[in-house]
Amino acid sequence: MKSAVFDYVKPKALQEALSLLEQGGDDARLIAGGQTLLATLNMRLSEPSVLIDITDIAELKGIAVVGDSLRIGALVTHTEIEDSELVAIHAPLLKAAAPHIAHRAIRNLGTWGGSLAYGDPAAEWPACSLTLRATMIIHGPAGERRISAQDFFIDLYTTSLEPDEILVATEIPLANKQEVFYFHELARRHGDYAVAGLAAVAQKQGEVLTHCAFTFFSVGATPVMATKAQELVDGQKLTEEVIAKAVAEARNEIEAIADITNSAEAKKHLIGVLLERGLKQMIA
Ligand SMILES: Cc1cc2nc3c(=O)[nH]c(=O)nc-3n(C[C@H](O)[C@H](O)[C@H](O)COP(=O)(O)OP(=O)(O)OC[C@H]3O[C@@H](n4cnc5c(N)ncnc54)[C@H](O)[C@@H]3O)c2cc1C
Repeated sequence: MKSAVFDYVKPKALQEALSLLEQGGDDARLIAGGQTLLATLNMRLSEPSVLIDITDIAELKGIAVVGDSLRIGALVTHTEIEDSELVAIHAPLLKAAAPHIAHRAIRNLGTWGGSLAYGDPAAEWPACSLTLRATMIIHGPAGERRISAQDFFIDLYTTSLEPDEILVATEIPLANKQEVFYFHELARRHGDYAVAGLAAVAQKQGEVLTHCAFTFFSVGATPVMATKAQELVDGQKLTEEVIAKAVAEARNEIEAIADITNSAEAKKHLIGVLLERGLKQMIA
């Protein structure tokens, strides 16, 4: 199928894009890498009358250290994250996660901001942003607002972004020397969306993990933090017994939702498998 007819505009500045978005109302749609949107247009799941291409807007580009945070512009592609020295040093979880997103051709076009704004619960970046306690920087008619990743993902493909707002960038606290991380996803083939995945970070002191953040993806309507399992592990010597209790707690606290090929029970099982592997790797 082909998409319905639409107008196409390519603003050079953020303010211009915001004005176009306001003028277009419900009929306007932003396009970044197009790796999700174009498919929905071609299938006529979405029929905007105007597409606002934001890829020329300099304010949305680049990766930089700003104070004690790593700022990642919304237009930064998955490949740029994968190849970035700054990301490797200051947010190594993202470098580990990037190769799991589709294939290189899609990673060359798809963007950090597009993935976060789309809010796919099976996607890697929403889960990583939650685990890394990212702050979303959003611009709209009233100016700038900031919101934590925790409050950003609301429901299936639903974020706190309003139709007249643009996600400009995110800020992620810089990793320190004690930070350990684990990223893994169980997928049928490399590049497929995960059946279940885990993005985890913690601070490691000897055999103890603190400041734990364990976010599972592709198991519910949004990425889900296993907060009770985190509390159980936090500050404890990580024995086999503690690991077993954390695994049971994570399986218990997360309400897994089945997808078309995998049952909720299978996902619950995989949540435990991933957490056990993750804890053992982070403490090793
Ligand atoms: C075959 C295939 C396999 C894929 N596999 C994976 C995978 O394994 N994991 C994964 O995470 N993704 C996967 N993707 C999706 C891919 O990562 C997309 O790039 C990503 O989801 C969206 O980014 P985009 O820049 O292409 O956004 P677009 O498609 O351009 O936009 C997506 C949505 O976000 C909105 N939007 C975009 N940018 C902004 C912004 N700055 N502010 C506000 N709203 C904005 C758009 O209006 C649109 O509604 C796959 C895609 C394909 C085609």
